[in-house]
Amino acid sequence: MVATFKCLPNCGYCCTISPVTVFPHEALILSRLAEELGIRDLSFKPGYVITDVKGGVRIALSYLMQLNDKGMCPFLDPNDKKCLIHSLYKPLTCRSFPYLPRVIRYIIDPELKLVDFTVEFVVSSLCPVVRNNYTPEDLELMSRNIKIAIKAMPREVEAAQEAIRVRRIYANALTALWRAGYVELRGDGGNSTNWPIVNAFEYIRQFIPQLTLDQFIPNVRHILK
Ligand code: SF4
Ligand code: SF4
Repeated sequence: MVATFKCLPNCGYCCTISPVTVFPHEALILSRLAEELGIRDLSFKPGYVITDVKGGVRIALSYLMQLNDKGMCPFLDPNDKKCLIHSLYKPLTCRSFPYLPRVIRYIIDPELKLVDFTVEFVVSSLCPVVRNNYTPEDLELMSRNIKIAIKAMPREVEAAQEAIRVRRIYANALTALWRAGYVELRGDGGNSTNWPIVNAFEYIRQFIPQLTLDQFIPNVRHILK
């Protein structure tokens, strides 16, 4: 029987380890929240990027929220190690930690004009609760068997599943645009040109304005003032 996961109060260690991968619409929401909270050291770097040769742009499908010069997420309160946006909007990566994608493989297929992906999960032993309470066999079991992972960490796995749903919205929208002839995609990591990098949410919305934040976050209107 694998132990039930319980996050340590006032730990915040995972908010100091590395940049946090966020979705394009999350980068927009986090920028708005930082503005509202007066947080000035929020910055992002593009994460996974594909190229649209028709539009002459590189499309960022994810961003890396950078740690600040204190080595912390800009939303972490340094005094009590609490997340300042916990009750507003916490990125899916934060909500799913320590249950995280080990590998995300994008499939950009020019013949089928298809954007697809596969995800493999891992339970991160960087988390002290994981390190102290789970054996390597437990971690292997949870990584391979989602039913066991759900029993041990239901909220974290749910957030990871939600991230798959969201990733699917992006993949399906880009596939639809490709097949309708609006874009011509290349999965070259965006490295082959100096074309500008655009946020995938904003770029897709130019063609599909019906794609709104509500489809990603149902209560978004209550989150943003
Ligand atoms: S998930 Fe782990 S590392 Fe992150 S705050 Fe909780 S106990 Fe700490
Ligand atoms: S957004 Fe909150 S939970 Fe996520 S890394 Fe920053 S402080 Fe931690």
